[in-house]
Amino acid sequence: MDSRRLCVIKIGGSLLRDSKSYLESAQKIREVFIENGYKTIVVVSAVKGITDKLIQVAKGSQEALRYVSEKYLEIAKELNSVKIIRRVDEELKRLEIVASAISGGGIDLSLYDLLLSFGERISKILMVGALEAVGVSALELHANELIVTNETFSDASIDYISTSANLEKLYSSIIDNPAIPVIEGFIGSTIDGRITTLGRGGSDYTATTIASLLNIDAVYLVTDVDGIMTTDPDIVENARLVRVMSYRESLEAALHGAKKINPKAFEPLEKFYSSKLIIGSWSRFGTEIVREISRDLWGPKVIMNRESQGVSYIAIVGEGTSSIPFIRRVLEIIDRNGIDIVGIQSYVYRPSLLVYVTPSYELKILRLLHKELFEGV
Ligand code: ASP
Ligand code: MG
Repeated sequence: MDSRRLCVIKIGGSLLRDSKSYLESAQKIREVFIENGYKTIVVVSAVKGITDKLIQVAKGSQEALRYVSEKYLEIAKELNSVKIIRRVDEELKRLEIVASAISGGGIDLSLYDLLLSFGERISKILMVGALEAVGVSALELHANELIVTNETFSDASIDYISTSANLEKLYSSIIDNPAIPVIEGFIGSTIDGRITTLGRGGSDYTATTIASLLNIDAVYLVTDVDGIMTTDPDIVENARLVRVMSYRESLEAALHGAKKINPKAFEPLEKFYSSKLIIGSWSRFGTEIVREISRDLWGPKVIMNRESQGVSYIAIVGEGTSSIPFIRRVLEIIDRNGIDIVGIQSYVYRPSLLVYVTPSYELKILRLLHKELFEGV
């Protein structure tokens, strides 16, 4: 197998709701990738909402525990494989034991992470079942044997050197084995074998780490929208897809709170290798995030309204937005429309411009700037 035909696909929790959605993802992996000669490493998140429920379980909620068990067992049963039902059942029994150990007293951080890890672990078993159900043989990998982290429970960072050594040992068996490797995102383990989690949305970080350390060209983050939008389409109806962005631009958007990618996911990309990130849904992969963009692609990419410590601001993100000509242009638009702002802020070394506003003007300014800067008026 040619390693350039390898890619990483992360299936986000927003897509995983029931047995139908597991089967749909499995079928798409088959049609879009495998049948086109690609070998994929599949990284799976927990079912939508399950990590939140597990956090409630850690606080002692029996109802949340019942919800998680019923949800996962229902999906397993609908996938109709005796092996998968048995595996999920075993994991759920372990989950119950861990949950009762936690609710017995003060929270031990390593137990807390162990508890949270069941969301992804069981989801991975279900994805293996779904792939097999659509005729794709799957190879189950275990994140706790491969992804080594520090001991910062709940927000662990990956130890790239140890993880790389583990992944390399596995590489030839992945390449030579026709089965599709499936691994759970979001979890790792300390050097002495205690399970850790990588922080909310951490499956992205698992996916980019695996791709970077194995020199894989493309990482697909599959979600329920077609890509990154210029702004929130619920606020601005003319919001459109951003086709190409740089790591730096999308990291900046993530740091200002854009929800699509976990900021930690960019670290391995920047450090090791220029894998491309491709974001979208099964119907369209609309956004490509690359190491660098050429000068003609500079300019504003994303605009969003944010609030930090009681102050409202509009963040305009993109290479060149902190330059004097761009700031002038924004001020001119604001001035021409007779709008008051509180102030502006930019850093030379960060690709964004922040416009501070009074909350009552926030949406008006957002719509206006979107129109003038993004809609070609
Ligand atoms: N399931 C975890 C979360 O909800 C990780 C992820 O989805 O990436 O944060
Ligand atoms: Mg996510």
